[in-house]
Amino acid sequence: MLRLLATPGLVADLEAKLGPYTQGIDETVAGEVDRTRFAVRLLTDRHPGFATIYLTGLDHVQHESGPDTPAAHAALERIEGLVGELVAAMPEGDVAVVSDHSFAAVDTDINLFGAFIQTGLITVDQGKVVAWQAVPWFAGGSAAVVLARRDDPALSAKVAALLAGLQAIPATHITAVLDHAEVVRRGAGDAADWFVEFAIGTEMGRDPAAPLVAPSALKGMHGYDPREPAMRWTSC
Ligand SMILES: [Zn+2]
Repeated sequence: MLRLLATPGLVADLEAKLGPYTQGIDETVAGEVDRTRFAVRLLTDRHPGFATIYLTGLDHVQHESGPDTPAAHAALERIEGLVGELVAAMPEGDVAVVSDHSFAAVDTDINLFGAFIQTGLITVDQGKVVAWQAVPWFAGGSAAVVLARRDDPALSAKVAALLAGLQAIPATHITAVLDHAEVVRRGAGDAADWFVEFAIGTEMGRDPAAPLVAPSALKGMHGYDPREPAMRWTSC
């Protein structure tokens, strides 16, 4: 995939000088030390007029360790050093550093997949989905719910009843179930028929075999209502 999208010959040229490139799926800080090495070489060898470099190690560490933790601080300091290397590789030009979202500590997983499977909306055979009528799309602190047939009133009613039932269980910490009109009104696009929003501290689980409510697999998550104060800042 990388080679299909890259400028022809660019990766091969850099790998000849620097060794194998770390694929973007490696989100560890160690992976981006290597990506920074390539970016620095690209900047110094080719002098691009515009370059974007995505450093995602802090996201990875905060999912694993939680936000505002010693591990997160250490990762950020490491990344700051990498930004310094990139800036040093550009003797002229402007550098803009932007971030995409904040983070919240989480301790609870809600297994929406299991609820959809038990309601017959998703059919699983030997660990694989073989049919689906409606499916929750993982978005961390929220989930989009997508219908297979938007023009099926009986299916819509069945899913709406399931979501209302889940929201009525206090332990699910579902703060809102937005319908399609509200999802569109908030600018989230047309794909979702509902959006399930969890309270800070709760996320959608990803293990279909887990109980409805379980300790979270991760310690940090994003994807909450963007109006949540915790999504507007970072203490790192
Ligand atoms: Zn993330």
